[in-house]
Amino acid sequence: MKSEYSGVPPVNRKSEEFMISAEGHLSEEGIAVCVDALFENQIETLPEAMSSHLSECSDCRREVVSVWELLREERKQRRVFEPVPTGIARGRQRIFTYIYRVAAAVVVCLSAGILAYFGWRLNEERNAAGKPNAAIEQAEKQTAAQTEGNSVSATSKLATALEVSPTLEGLVNSTSRTTSIRVLSPKTSETVSGSVVFAWKGIGERSIELQILSNHEKVLWTLEKAHSPVRFTAPLSDGIYYWKIAENGELLYVGKFFTRRSSP
Ligand SMILES: [Zn+2]
Repeated sequence: MKSEYSGVPPVNRKSEEFMISAEGHLSEEGIAVCVDALFENQIETLPEAMSSHLSECSDCRREVVSVWELLREERKQRRVFEPVPTGIARGRQRIFTYIYRVAAAVVVCLSAGILAYFGWRLNEERNAAGKPNAAIEQAEKQTAAQTEGNSVSATSKLATALEVSPTLEGLVNSTSRTTSIRVLSPKTSETVSGSVVFAWKGIGERSIELQILSNHEKVLWTLEKAHSPVRFTAPLSDGIYYWKIAENGELLYVGKFFTRRSSP
């Protein structure tokens, strides 16, 4: 029990029991601490129970990432997070919890709104199931090799999975001004498992070019004449992916999603 967390734990041991809810998921407090750790680049100092849950539970991970992204945007734009002297860590935590609550409410409203708005059904699949090309297989192999070579801990895997592309990140959710394309799926930062459904509206029967990119901006898959909806079924390793829609060379949309393989 003593040397369980070497280094400087950002969480005091006493409050740990409140980090996991009765249902076994991260509590609001727990989510807040994880987001905090992400901001401070200290994922590896999270208590084992939290980090292992986070690496296994896509729901909690999605929540952490959504809140993290929201707060990061907020921080970028308005510098909500003033650096706070470490002496008043408690006050800081309280401020954080407040901001977290606001952010969580926004996430809930957004998800509810999106679900309500897009009560659509996927009944026509005009596109053949996605097939991986050499690049994606290569990427898979490399990841597997790296994972085998070093004993990568769950937390550092998570940290790698959360690396964003500096270039694409800024484009996520941006849409072209000249078209009225509306993306239905995947939702921004949605966590998908097994297959990814890409769906959009607003461009009639026109076909577009669809691409999936890794978080290191490598094009993994291209479908040149895509009609909504497209189901991509090739396995992707856990992590962040981006996708693009383009028409005649013009970028219409950039999206982002997370993948989580179904339980091993
Ligand atoms: Zn969970």
